[in-house]
Amino acid sequence: MADVPAECNIKVLCRFRPLNQSEIVRGDHFIPKFQGDDTVLVGGKSYAFDRVFPTNTTQEQVYNTCAKQIVKDVLGGYNGTIFAYGQTASGKTHTMEVSYFEIYMDKIRDLLDVTKTNLSVHEDKNRVPFVKGCTERFVSSPDEVMDVIDEGKAARHVAVTNMNEHSSRSHSIFLINIKQEHVETEQKLCGKLYLVDLAGSEKVSKTGAAGAVLDEAKNINKSLSALGNVISALAEGTKSHVPYRDSKMTRILQDSLGGNCRTTMFICCSPSSYNDAETKSTLMFGQRAK
Ligand code: ADP
Ligand code: MG
Repeated sequence: MADVPAECNIKVLCRFRPLNQSEIVRGDHFIPKFQGDDTVLVGGKSYAFDRVFPTNTTQEQVYNTCAKQIVKDVLGGYNGTIFAYGQTASGKTHTMEVSYFEIYMDKIRDLLDVTKTNLSVHEDKNRVPFVKGCTERFVSSPDEVMDVIDEGKAARHVAVTNMNEHSSRSHSIFLINIKQEHVETEQKLCGKLYLVDLAGSEKVSKTGAAGAVLDEAKNINKSLSALGNVISALAEGTKSHVPYRDSKMTRILQDSLGGNCRTTMFICCSPSSYNDAETKSTLMFGQRAK
């Protein structure tokens, strides 16, 4: 597979997972029809993206086609963000491979220190927003990065057992800060990469929510639509007003979205006829970013 062209700074990639066992047992139909390497047909309508990954795509192909270039750019001093958007069980976490802090009900929780449950967003002297008091770890090798990820995962797991389906109801954000200094020239290079595993985008009605669950769902819808608005303003190039301040997440990500930053959105979809409506609305969200 060839690399996605590098000129455009917002890339929207769409990935369909295979039908799972219970969908096959139920007799669900496989609805997407793939055309070329950038278009998918669902219900007679065609959706074009920078790249569409059909169900048999390997993790390595996904990484080589897009993530690799972003990691390279971040090592070269650019900022970047990789999002995964889609309904619960569509393959978001599978595609990111990492899952630290998370935003749940608009509260920022530190996944490397579970005693910090409501962190706030501040701005530094250059007006760059950051999460105040968030735990930082110094790592010097990929193995150490993996250790930190495992620690965050364990913390997230605790929350899952306490709260029903918690992981799909919160956004998880992993920030990798890369600072390099050239030994001889003393030239400094800084780049950061956000990996954002978004909350499930499904509509509430399907789960028949009420009370607290409904509040939670409204909150998710609000923050996902704030994100959609920011991405589509950036994609249209109407830089005069990008509504970053409409949600905590977009505020935090402000200096890693748009402009010179490398932004990639993975649109994750189920191929099942059972999820037809959700898949169409997921694809539409992705189209807004183009
Ligand atoms: P989400 O994070 O969107 O809720 P997950 O990433 O947890 O969904 O995926 C749900 C299930 O589907 C997991 O068991 C995962 O291993 C499987 N899955 C997701 N995407 C793929 C894929 N492309 N190929 C094979 N299995 C997948
Ligand atoms: Mg997930």
